[in-house]
Amino acid sequence: MVDKKKGQRLSRKEQVLGETTRDDRLAFFSKALVAWFEQNGRDLPWRRTRDPYKILVSEIMLQQTNVDIVIPIYSKFLKRFPTIQTLAKSSIQDVKKITDELGYKRRGEYLHEIAKQIFYEKKGQFPSNLDELLALKGIGRYTAGAILSFAFEKTAAIVDVNVERVLARIFGLWDWEKNAKFEKEIWKLSEAMIENGKNVWTVNQSILDLGATICIAQKPKCPICPMVEICEYYDRKVPKITPLDSFFSS
Ligand code: SF4
Repeated sequence: MVDKKKGQRLSRKEQVLGETTRDDRLAFFSKALVAWFEQNGRDLPWRRTRDPYKILVSEIMLQQTNVDIVIPIYSKFLKRFPTIQTLAKSSIQDVKKITDELGYKRRGEYLHEIAKQIFYEKKGQFPSNLDELLALKGIGRYTAGAILSFAFEKTAAIVDVNVERVLARIFGLWDWEKNAKFEKEIWKLSEAMIENGKNVWTVNQSILDLGATICIAQKPKCPICPMVEICEYYDRKVPKITPLDSFFSS
C-alpha cells in the first residue's frame, strides 16, 4: 500500500492505523487478544468456575484489591460459605470476620445483603439479566457485566480501570478529560469488542489481564504487547525501541 500524498510505501503499522476503520481495528483487537490470552492468561480460581455465586464473591472481593491478596481469602470464604444459602443464613459478624481482612469493610455487608436478597426474595434463583443484577446491593455496571459474561457467558461489556486504560491508549483517548463523554466512548468500545457475541468470556477476561500485566499504568510493556500494531499510544508516545534494537545496541 502506498501513501498517495508522499508516494511512499506505508509500513504495516501505518496501514493498520491509517487505512483501516475503527471496526477493523476492533476486530483485530478482539482476535489478537484471544490468541494472546490462550498463551498468557492467568489461571485464577474464579476462572475455573461458571457458578454465579462464586463469581459474585470474587468480583466483590476484587474491587480495588490485588488478585494476590484476594486468592487466599476467596478460598477461605467459600470454604466457610459454600453456597448462597449458607451465606444468607449466616450472621453478618461471621461474614465480616473474613471479608474485613480485605479492608474496605462494606464488602461483607454487600455480599451478605445480596445473598439474602437472592435467597429470600428470589427463592435462590440467581439473576441473569442486567436490570435484576443492577437492583442488587453494591452491584454496578462493571460487576453486573462481569457476572453476566463470566458466569452466564452472555454478551455483556465490562469497564474497570484496567479496561479503561487499555482501550483509551489503543484508540487514542488517553488524554481525554475523564468525564461522561469519555465514559460513554469507553463503554461503546467495550461493547463493540464483543458485539458479535463470540468468545465473550475470553475477550473480557483477556482485556483485564492485558491491563493488569502488560498495559500497566506506569511503563506499559509495549514491546511484548500483542497490540503494538494498532495502538495509538504506542504510535505517538512510546520511544520506538524494540527488544531487538536493545539486543543489537548492547
Ligand atoms: Fe498498552 Fe503499549 Fe500495548 Fe498500547 S502497545 S496497549 S500502550 S502496552
